[in-house]
Amino acid sequence: MIYRTLGRTGLSVSILGFGASPLGNEFDPVDPREASGAVLRAIERGINYFDVSPYYGRTLAETRLGEALVGHRQEVILATKCGRYGKSLPDGFDFSAARIRRSLEESLQRLRTDYIDVFQAHDIEYAHRDQILGETLPAMFELKRSGKVRFVGITGYPLHLLRDVASAADVDTVLSYCHYDLLDTGLARVLAPLARERGTGLISASPLHMRLLTRKGPPAWHPAPRAVRQVAQAAAAFCDARGVDIASLAMQFALAYGGVATTLVGMSKAEHVDANLQALGVPPDPELLAQVRAIIAPAADVSWKEGLPENDDPGAVEKQQ
Ligand code: NAD
Repeated sequence: MIYRTLGRTGLSVSILGFGASPLGNEFDPVDPREASGAVLRAIERGINYFDVSPYYGRTLAETRLGEALVGHRQEVILATKCGRYGKSLPDGFDFSAARIRRSLEESLQRLRTDYIDVFQAHDIEYAHRDQILGETLPAMFELKRSGKVRFVGITGYPLHLLRDVASAADVDTVLSYCHYDLLDTGLARVLAPLARERGTGLISASPLHMRLLTRKGPPAWHPAPRAVRQVAQAAAAFCDARGVDIASLAMQFALAYGGVATTLVGMSKAEHVDANLQALGVPPDPELLAQVRAIIAPAADVSWKEGLPENDDPGAVEKQQ
């Protein structure tokens, strides 16, 4: 395994991190024993960063991860979130200070621990920037002072909002998703310079673009607009014709990027843990990569609208509902 420092937190994290949203059946129903086997396999292979949220499976992912980690808590860096509990506004979100404090207590119980390493405001684009800066983050920093949380971070989709909030609030970490992979590398332009300058721990999630960059293709709820789906499908077919699984090229591409501390991939099967680890330290074949990037070029770096309109990235397009 290769480890990198997560910015100013000083935590040494595996450059491949475990995304636990599939444990909440977010993609497909999973067999809990198989999922638990994937967690143990990951620990055995040196993965030490685990990311979850009360939102994933509406608490199911935290409960399953908590069970799987019994006896292993000290071996891992555990990241969870607060503020998002459902799919859409108004009921799915609550970034109030009182809810944040209650959320932490509930997560600690489900995860069977008495501290969280990285506590993150989940999908801040669904709140007004003023609330995140004036209420949510101050409540989270208070929890950090209490010792129940070691570090405080933010997560979300629109890159410019993440950058603005990270510069205004001095958060320890920023998690961005679907912004550093074969389809989109916006993270490198918008977030990486700030992270370097300020020592913010930068986390890139969804290197498979939430399953768009796999043979199986995206789940029904996937927000990517049609043009992005089409190029992804064409790229997958192109790889297939050459005997290559696009997921392995996608993982090689994401892991070759040194601008983030860790890349989180969602896993619920030990075979995916093994397959994804094969990409470690293996640069993508330059010729194949150039061909695939050329197929993707007409829809590369396309961002969709997510959250409140005031938080949209410039040029973002409507998502597929
Ligand atoms: P992803 O791009 O990592 O894709 C995960 C999907 O791909 C799952 O269905 C998984 O079973 C499948 N998969 C994994 N390895 C595979 C392989 N080798 N071959 C074929 N299929 C494979 O998307 P994700 O899970 O959404 O993102 C990773 C993690 O990052 C999440 O689980 C979550 O922890 C975190 N995340 C956080 C946020 C946020 O905070 N806003 C958003 C997105 C993701």
